[in-house]
Amino acid sequence: MNTLKAIANDWVPSLSVYEPGRPIEEVARELGFSDQDEIFKLASNENAIGPSPKAVQAMRQAAKNMHLYPDGGAFYLRRALAAKLNVPMDQLLIGHGSNELIELLGHAFLHKGTNIVMADRAFIVYKLVASSFLADTIMVPMKDLTHDLDAMLAAITPQTRIVFIANPNNPTGTMVDGAALDRFMARVPEHVAVVMDEAYIELLPPEKQPDTIQYVRQDRNVFVLRTFSKTYGLAGLRVGYAAAPKDGIDLLHRVRQPFNVNAMALAAAQAALADEEHVAKTRTLVADGLEYLCRSFEKLGLSYVPSVTNFILVKVGKGRDIFTALQRKRVIVRPMDPSGLPEYVRVTVGTKKQNAHFIRALKEALKEIRG
Ligand SMILES: *Cc1c(COP(=O)(O)O)cnc(C)c1O
Repeated sequence: MNTLKAIANDWVPSLSVYEPGRPIEEVARELGFSDQDEIFKLASNENAIGPSPKAVQAMRQAAKNMHLYPDGGAFYLRRALAAKLNVPMDQLLIGHGSNELIELLGHAFLHKGTNIVMADRAFIVYKLVASSFLADTIMVPMKDLTHDLDAMLAAITPQTRIVFIANPNNPTGTMVDGAALDRFMARVPEHVAVVMDEAYIELLPPEKQPDTIQYVRQDRNVFVLRTFSKTYGLAGLRVGYAAAPKDGIDLLHRVRQPFNVNAMALAAAQAALADEEHVAKTRTLVADGLEYLCRSFEKLGLSYVPSVTNFILVKVGKGRDIFTALQRKRVIVRPMDPSGLPEYVRVTVGTKKQNAHFIRALKEALKEIRG
C-alpha cells in the first residue's frame, strides 16, 4: 500500500482533470469497431484537411536530425514570426502548444491569494491552471454567449493578476471586435496582465482580425497567444507562441524548460507559417462547411450559436446522450456539460463527407434519444 496521495501537495488530489475530445482509437476499442470502420473525430477543432504538405515535407527532412537536441531558442521560427507580425524577435516565445504558455503564465503570475478573471463559458483550461497554482477564478457571466468585457472589467479585484479573453472563444465560437478590445484596454488597471488567446484568429479574413499585436508594440501588459494546432493543422506536434513586451517574454523564459518545443515541431511550424495557400484552403473549407451545417440544423429545427470559427454549438436537448449515441454511429463530438451547456454539443467542421455523415447520424440520434 503506497502513501502517495497522503504525501502529495495537499491541493493536488482534488484538482479537476481536463476532459479532452475522445481519441478515435479509444472509441474504436470501447465500441468494438474494426480497423475498416471509419470513425470521424469532430471533437477537438482540428483541421479537417490535415497539415500543410510543406510542413510534412519539413518534418521528413527534420527526422534525419532527431539525435540532436532542438534549438531551445527557436531562432528560425521566431525570426519568421517576427517578420510576419512586425515585432522584434525578443517579443516572441515558442511554447509546447498554447496550453503550455497558459501554464507558464501561471508560474509567472499566480499563487495563493491571487485570482484570474475569465468568462464563464470560455476555455476551461484557464481555471484548471489557476487552481493548480492555488489561485482563485472569478467567473464572469457571458452575454449572449459572448465575452462581456465591461462585466469582466468590473470583476477585477486588487488580487487579480490575469484576465483571460479567448477571442474567438472556444466553445461558443463567438468573438468581440477590435473596437471593444480597444475600450477594454483603455480601462484595464495596471496591476493586471491581459491574455488574449487567439487560437482561431487565422480562420478570420485578415480584415476581421482585431489588431492585438498593436498592444504588444505599445508596451502594454498583454500576452497574445496563438497556436499551430488549429488553422495550421499541427495539433499533434504541440506548438504555439506568445507575443508580449520583452519584460513579459523574459518572465516566461525563466519558468520554461530549456527544450520545451521539439525540433520536428519547430521545423513544421516554420514551413506551415509560409504556406498561405493551405491557410486559404482551410478558410474556404470551414466557411462552406459551416454554411452546410447551419442550413442542416435549420432543416432539423435545431438552434445553434452562429460561429466565426471551425466549430459550432448546436442545441440538441440532452447533449451527453446525443454525444454517446453519435459515437455508436462513428462520430465523435464534444458534450458541453463540463462547460455548463448540457443542452448543447460542439461539433468541429469536417470535410464535406464528414459533415454529411455527421448530419445523417445526428438525425438518427435525435430520433433515438427523443423516442
Ligand atoms: C485549441 C485551443 C488552444 C490551443 O491549444 P494548443 O495547446 O496550442 O493545442 C488554446 N486556446 C483555445 C481557446 C483553444 O480552443
